Amino acid sequence: MKLIDIKGFVLKEQTYKENDKIIWVLCENIGKVSILAKNAKKMKNSKFVLTQLFSLVQLTLVKGKSFYYIEDGSLIKNVNFINNEDIIFYLSYFFELLDISFNDGDVIDVNFFKILIKIFLILESNTIDKDLILRIFEFKLLKKLGCNIEFEKCNYCSQNLKESVVWFDFTFQSVVCNSCSKLKEFKIENRIINIMRFLSKLDIRNIPRLSVTSSDMKFIFNFNKILLDQNLIKMPNSIKFLGGYE
Ligand SMILES: [Zn+2]
Repeated sequence: MKLIDIKGFVLKEQTYKENDKIIWVLCENIGKVSILAKNAKKMKNSKFVLTQLFSLVQLTLVKGKSFYYIEDGSLIKNVNFINNEDIIFYLSYFFELLDISFNDGDVIDVNFFKILIKIFLILESNTIDKDLILRIFEFKLLKKLGCNIEFEKCNYCSQNLKESVVWFDFTFQSVVCNSCSKLKEFKIENRIINIMRFLSKLDIRNIPRLSVTSSDMKFIFNFNKILLDQNLIKMPNSIKFLGGYE
């Protein structure tokens, strides 16, 4: 019997029979796995605490025919919802995006997993604007999904953008200057392009104090939604809790 040690996030859960649960865990090394946790619905069972939605856990697993099974484990971090009620909406979106983005067996590299842990801890700690964190996360995720957004050079002439109002072509995922614009692109202020470029390159371990106005934040959210929609098989339902379908 081969034991597999993993560290991962409980993305999703489903009741199975009366006392069991199936959970989907996004792991650092083996990607997304489904685990059948017997008796995990019983509060006195040790698996109860290891299978809580949105927690970060360390597990020792055994691979079965259709599922993995828990041999042992410990809780690394769960979410404190007290005095932090709206966190559920942000975490639902964060984890649903991850669930949609990765299939069983997709490898999650160590660096990307570190970014996810950092974002999770920042969201939970309530120290930085959660909308800002999610916008940064969306840029990191888009990059992971192969969407390399060009914010600096025009798609056609490769010149750096100087005008105050420029264009964005979602097909090429690139900015377009005024001279090259075919007027079919999305009009966008260069100062917002600069904010987005800054956010997309930001080192998550070192987020400076930033204030982005709520109208700019909404604009960036709408911008990211178009790109997410292009790159994901479906959009997360939880986006509606964050005003995503306004
Ligand atoms: Zn151009």
